[in-house]
Amino acid sequence: MALIIPQHNLASLNTLAVPVRASAYVQARSREDVVEALAYAKKHSLPVLPLGGGSNLVLTRDVPALVLHIRLAGIECVHETADDIWVKVQAGENWHEFVCHSLNQDWYGLENLSLIPGSVGAAPIQNIGAYGVELEAVVQELTAIQVDSALPVTFDRDSCEFGYRDSVFKGRLKDQYVIVDVTFRLSKKPRLQFGYPALASRLDAVPHDNVTPQAVSDAVCAIRREKLPDPTSIPNVGSFFKNPLIDSVRFDALRREYPDIVGHPTGGSQIKLAAAWLIDRAGFKGVQQGPARVHERQALVLTNPGRGSGTEVLALAARIQAAVWDKYRVRLEIEPRVYPPEDRKAI
Ligand SMILES: Cc1cc2nc3c(=O)[nH]c(=O)nc-3n(C[C@H](O)[C@H](O)[C@H](O)COP(=O)(O)OP(=O)(O)OC[C@H]3O[C@@H](n4cnc5c(N)ncnc54)[C@H](O)[C@@H]3O)c2cc1C
Repeated sequence: MALIIPQHNLASLNTLAVPVRASAYVQARSREDVVEALAYAKKHSLPVLPLGGGSNLVLTRDVPALVLHIRLAGIECVHETADDIWVKVQAGENWHEFVCHSLNQDWYGLENLSLIPGSVGAAPIQNIGAYGVELEAVVQELTAIQVDSALPVTFDRDSCEFGYRDSVFKGRLKDQYVIVDVTFRLSKKPRLQFGYPALASRLDAVPHDNVTPQAVSDAVCAIRREKLPDPTSIPNVGSFFKNPLIDSVRFDALRREYPDIVGHPTGGSQIKLAAAWLIDRAGFKGVQQGPARVHERQALVLTNPGRGSGTEVLALAARIQAAVWDKYRVRLEIEPRVYPPEDRKAI
């Protein structure tokens, strides 16, 4: 049985650097460890909070749960054809290291998702996405252990119900499963996507025929390093809000009032508004409130340079939500997981 540690300090295990304790903490390095941890939680009537890299979590107070730190490791090729390869990756693998490993093996499809912090097992939870690509494009299936029964269940891509920064694990089946591995279908032939404006302009100088998957990955990393604060020096959880989706009639009305408002069509009738633009134009770039601060280079990122509490960061978020609502009548939804969940409703 893996060691259960009571009252464990989580400050170094969440990228917002919030100093809270977990009622109990355990590292799982195998499926058996996961099953044993679930049995322990059941016996002690503790909820379970799976933890990967802690890069999408806002912890508002001591965590009244068993924090199950997913450390399962391993990358295995399970099937291949002339064009594609199916790779099963254990949930505790670091996401960016897996992206780099894939590029080294000439397996393609992940390059736009380079340098996203966190673990492979957490990537499907919010269907991570960046620079025009979302995880769902490459997921074949995943294995998750049901918290109640401790039995493994296979979810194919459709049953993950992926959406924009969303999946069934954030919605209908929230807190009911622990993901232990994810199988990706990657391509042996580059299928590059660099139409996303920031990426396209970064690669503008390179003749299109010479753009390689590695060049796309390098460009994504360079943009991210310029734009986003490194959580190891400035605590943050990346984008704090989702980009709001509104219908095109509403968008046209907003554009009449704010001609330079930024929005992108989603393929359907909806427009994805750039939350960063709304926050910036509401005057929040660089604004500090207590220990929390809106990042100077990217208004969508709230940072915690004063290493305050999750509640203090949420207070700044609530102020931004209210200001954006007052100015544009647009609701900003918080992207990271707030835990315990009841503290989210307080906003
Ligand atoms: C600087 C920065 C940049 C970022 N950029 C992006 C970006 O471009 N695109 C993007 O989509 N996200 C981005 N993020 C957010 C974050 O990196 C992703 O959401 C990532 O997938 C979180 O992984 P994690 O392992 O850190 O998850 P954690 O924060 O540990 O967990 C997040 C949620 O998933 C649950 N969870 C974790 N592991 C499991 C598991 N194995 N089984 C079941 N539930 C689990 C947790 O309980 C929690 O609810 C960024 C974050 C930072 C700090």
